[in-house]
Amino acid sequence: MSKLDIHQIPVLNDNYVYLFREPESGLVGVVDPAVSGPVLSKLKELGWTLTHILNTHHHGDHTGGNLELKEATGCTIVGAKKDAARIPGIDIRLEEGDIFEFGAEKAEVFEVPGHTVGHIAYWFEKSDALFCGDTLFALGCGRLFEGTPAQMWQSLGKFRNLPDSTRVYCAHEYTESNGRFALSVDPKNKALQERFAEIVALRKRNKPTVPSTLGEEKATNPFLRADDPSLAAELNLSATDPVAVFAETRRRKDNF
Ligand code: ZN
Ligand code: FE
Repeated sequence: MSKLDIHQIPVLNDNYVYLFREPESGLVGVVDPAVSGPVLSKLKELGWTLTHILNTHHHGDHTGGNLELKEATGCTIVGAKKDAARIPGIDIRLEEGDIFEFGAEKAEVFEVPGHTVGHIAYWFEKSDALFCGDTLFALGCGRLFEGTPAQMWQSLGKFRNLPDSTRVYCAHEYTESNGRFALSVDPKNKALQERFAEIVALRKRNKPTVPSTLGEEKATNPFLRADDPSLAAELNLSATDPVAVFAETRRRKDNF
């Protein structure tokens, strides 16, 4: 069984770009190249040839390197069919339920509107890897620039169905500030308290807190827990209306 060999490239202020290779085919993909330079340097260092760009959504800090990388390598650009007009250089258009074949691996595609309406995520089941862009963050979720709370809650629900062992390769290092907020709405959550202490220690040493696992997120990320009675109680809301709990949590985060 072959697994993706995944490298994390920190770029800009707090973005993570992911470069990976499928060992049997030698195919090489990059997820959300905000900029081209650091990706080209890393390719050179590893001796890899880029074959694919996988975009999660149209924002410039995810697609900014698309055209330069395509120009430099001739790679194929993959993105959301619904957002094809906003993904620079797109070649392959994907939608909900599509299987994107990648050598001996394959990704299931989820449409996850909320942060943007055309946002998608890629789940490589064999490699236990979820590339979720700005939909789910460690201890947080993306701002609702284009979608509604109901859409985002439904989108995050698709991730909650995946195995706890799934690694969450999100696109930003926002974890410490997300954690401060999470504790403000879920102060009695022991797992969250412990995780936050680890995160603070990692950031002190300037280490990444990403990827996390979905199991950790399900236990500690308030945006995956809007149907948890203890979180609803903290917000004086009913757990029978998770969309309301989610919307209130997101509203508080926007003002935190
Ligand atoms: Zn974004
Ligand atoms: Fe972003």
